[in-house]
Amino acid sequence: MLWRGRRQSDNIEDERSDSGGGGGGLGGGGQFRVPIGGRTGGGGSIILVILVVLAGWYFGFDPSQILGDGSGGLSPGGGGQITEDNSSQDGGSPASDEMKQFVATVLAETEDTWTGIFKSEGLTYEDPKLVLFSGKVRSACGFASAAAGPFYCPGDHKVYLDMTFFQQLDQQFGASGEFARAYVVAHEVGHHVQNLTGIMGKFDQMRQGMSEADANQLSVRIELQADCFAGVWAHFTQQKGILEQGDIESALNAAKQIGDDTLQKKMQGYVVPESFNHGTSQQRQTWLARGFKSGKLTDCNTMSGPI
Ligand SMILES: [Zn+2]
Repeated sequence: MLWRGRRQSDNIEDERSDSGGGGGGLGGGGQFRVPIGGRTGGGGSIILVILVVLAGWYFGFDPSQILGDGSGGLSPGGGGQITEDNSSQDGGSPASDEMKQFVATVLAETEDTWTGIFKSEGLTYEDPKLVLFSGKVRSACGFASAAAGPFYCPGDHKVYLDMTFFQQLDQQFGASGEFARAYVVAHEVGHHVQNLTGIMGKFDQMRQGMSEADANQLSVRIELQADCFAGVWAHFTQQKGILEQGDIESALNAAKQIGDDTLQKKMQGYVVPESFNHGTSQQRQTWLARGFKSGKLTDCNTMSGPI
């Protein structure tokens, strides 16, 4: 990705020196955990209304309920986390400064793209903050450790990222390349888009009272939509002429390596499909590619039909 020299977002909050972690040991986790809860904004665009209405048909809720205000209580993220030991990494090296610039540039690119998409729907995009942390962090969604992976907290509209996850992605999961990292950021920003449009708030309401297996299935649909939104972003990035050869392949490979089935096989030697909450490698690649191909939100309706 030809990112150097481009605008860097000023929505980065660097809390790496406050965490007390000091670049110490990091437990590894492969999932993009999405703590669910907190307040969400209402959505209003035509496309989003369509997505919501389709979701309503599929899940049998009244779409009008989520097109107004949405607010939900806190509920913990899904179970089935995978953790394992990992080597420590230095959080303050020149390499990490360069990585911070890269993340700030990718975030700026997502701001520009989503601002444009929202504007075309008559909406105003609100930039999320991206918090860089080291080891552990406190968010409106509670206390989190880097072991849980990058996440988005709907309650404070912030993406949380310990950049040592990028090394883990490369060395442990076999997902190398800059654009694999850009995909991780864009996926989390995709959750922010879901939050702003009320999709995430509805998801939070719907999963209350569901069996764990059903909630996991719903979670997969939400996660695949975030992958598709990341693809939509990549589509516009390509249109700007800043994608390089191999970038999309690098993101697709990352989607493959962090698919639930591939991760479980790698970490525990067997798969438990009922516990999948992000989607299989095949599904994640498919939805990322779908968003990338068309750049249209309407192609990201993961809420109805087969996925
Ligand atoms: Zn996610």
